[in-house]
Amino acid sequence: MTIIDNATGTTVRTVNHFINGNETGQDTSDYTDRRAPGTDEVITRILRGTSSDVQHAIETARRAFDDGRWPNTTGFERARILNRLGDLIDRDAAILAKIDSEETGKPIRVAEGDIAGAADLCRYAASLAITMQGSSFTNNGPDYTGIIIREPVGVVGLIVPWNFPALILCQKLPFALAAGCTAVIKASEFTSSSALHIVKLCIEAGVPDGVVNFVAGGGSIGAAIAESPLIDLVSFTGSTPTGQKVMAAAAGNMKKASLELGGKAAAIVFDDADIEDALAGVMFGIVFNNGECCVSQPRLLVQDTIADDFVQELSRKFATLRVGQPLDRATDVGALIHAAHLNSVTGYIDGSADSGAEIAFGGKRLTGGEYGNGQFVQPTVIDRVDKTAPVFVEEIFGPVLTVTRFTDGNQAVELANAVEYGLSNSVWSKNIDRVLETAKRLQSGTVYANTVIDAPPTMPFGGYKASGIGREMGQAGFEEYTELKSVNIRTGKRAGKFLISGSAIDTLTAS
Ligand code: NAD
Repeated sequence: MTIIDNATGTTVRTVNHFINGNETGQDTSDYTDRRAPGTDEVITRILRGTSSDVQHAIETARRAFDDGRWPNTTGFERARILNRLGDLIDRDAAILAKIDSEETGKPIRVAEGDIAGAADLCRYAASLAITMQGSSFTNNGPDYTGIIIREPVGVVGLIVPWNFPALILCQKLPFALAAGCTAVIKASEFTSSSALHIVKLCIEAGVPDGVVNFVAGGGSIGAAIAESPLIDLVSFTGSTPTGQKVMAAAAGNMKKASLELGGKAAAIVFDDADIEDALAGVMFGIVFNNGECCVSQPRLLVQDTIADDFVQELSRKFATLRVGQPLDRATDVGALIHAAHLNSVTGYIDGSADSGAEIAFGGKRLTGGEYGNGQFVQPTVIDRVDKTAPVFVEEIFGPVLTVTRFTDGNQAVELANAVEYGLSNSVWSKNIDRVLETAKRLQSGTVYANTVIDAPPTMPFGGYKASGIGREMGQAGFEEYTELKSVNIRTGKRAGKFLISGSAIDTLTAS
């Protein structure tokens, strides 16, 4: 629902809950205002959900799973609905992209890419619904058949961050639906509108009421989902500290926890790289989505033989980037998510001199003129960064690139692995031996070679170390939403012996 704010004349969206096929909660006036990062104007009012709201949503999803209205549909029925959902997301692409650009501050062209990707994820998940399968064993004797049944895990809680509101929701929801699960969704309190829109599209696509439920509100809603004994799996994307809380809460009923957490990737540029490609990739890898991307490449590790020229040329390229209003199609870098985050990013930049680093480009907050009171910062290159500096080891989550020089491949790998995170890294070299050797030694769930950020839905995605547990997307990501049940069957008259591992044993003397 949208209303016009009388004070400013701006259109203000309202985000309520969506439970059991109905928009609910609007009978209270307990809303939080969301200001656009680009303009600081109120653009959305988000309901502050309560524990009883989230309980209601969880119980609704539980009923919708237990009565079979969704898990008992055929793979083809689920696929038809997921394909329709993809088409509806495409139909509403302009609306969804505008919402996500306004609420996150990301450039509109990035938001358009997110929405196209979200639609494709629905179509990919549709194919998985059709091909969902178990397996069987018939090699333990003529009277034995082992059937491994793949079942939906049950009710899932999906907790989403603010940086890719629609895209990350669609890295989870279509896969859960493809498997036959029912869901309770918690979007970020900063960027909830596109999730609510997609939940309504699920109903239009034919998902039965109660199967997909959405609760608006802050972290307490996510905590209630992670704790609930009625939920069988929590799939969380967000920061590592919150992920640790989710994992602890999930232990209460031993629910499965799939955790996609922070990152601090390195882009390793060897002196035999295609320098033009590497320059373009390194820049894209840190300014894409304002650098607010878990697979951003914020640490450039560059071979010392080419480092000075590389940094000089990179700074020249950074100077051509246009920082501007998120909805302006000419914008390359938009506004950061909120004021506290902008302060954190500029604090890292300002503090970098303490450890002897030098600003090679940028470093300043942008205010006045077209920037007004928005949350803008110059894309920044910080040179001569030591491996112990906070800007090298901590997740900054903004358009800030650090540069550290290395002499050989061993040192490059050691530097890349010297952080707690392990989500992604990239390698730039035209020597295939070097690329493959380096890729094998990097401690991360994804390695890009002569590319960056690519994420086809067929490729599983997830973290090593503090970057998380489990995988999203690909066959492996789909299987997170399933359980395996082993059914051991004997046919005919029992011979008396039982299979203990590979041996047939009779352990009783009694008859
Ligand atoms: P966040 O951890 O602050 O919040 C994520 C979500 O968790 C929000 O919806 C929030 O309301 C909710 N939440 C807050 N407290 C909670 C609690 N106690 N229990 C359950 N849920 C709770 O993260 P953010 O600031 O929204 O997102 C940025 C972070 O997300 C960065 O660290 C980034 O690297 C990470 N991220 C990771 C991936 C990935 O795929 N690995 C993708 C995108 C973002």
